[in-house]
Amino acid sequence: MPVTTTLECDMCGKPNALAFHRPSQMTEALCSDCARNAALIDAAHNDLHTQLAATVQAWAGRWAGVGVGVPDLGYVLWTEATYWHPLGFLGSTDDAQQNAHTFVQALLDDVN
Ligand SMILES: [Zn+2]
Repeated sequence: MPVTTTLECDMCGKPNALAFHRPSQMTEALCSDCARNAALIDAAHNDLHTQLAATVQAWAGRWAGVGVGVPDLGYVLWTEATYWHPLGFLGSTDDAQQNAHTFVQALLDDVN
């Protein structure tokens, strides 16, 4: 007789969770509700990455094309990345996740 085990959801603790593979290579046990939410978050992440990659690539090509050197472009990119990092210029505390939440809320407040 096969041995069956019931996994609990890593997020909410509900039973009957299934393995859910994240883009970060992590595998989590998630119930159907949490798996749906995780899939939406992963899709948002992929969308942001795709948009940023295209923007940065176009930006680098435009400025390299007028003679700005690769090391200088790299420095500008590094500076900009520090701006967006929750523990960078925006960081008001050592809590990166809280800084990121506050920053995204401020961005949304500016839109509305
Ligand atoms: Zn769950």
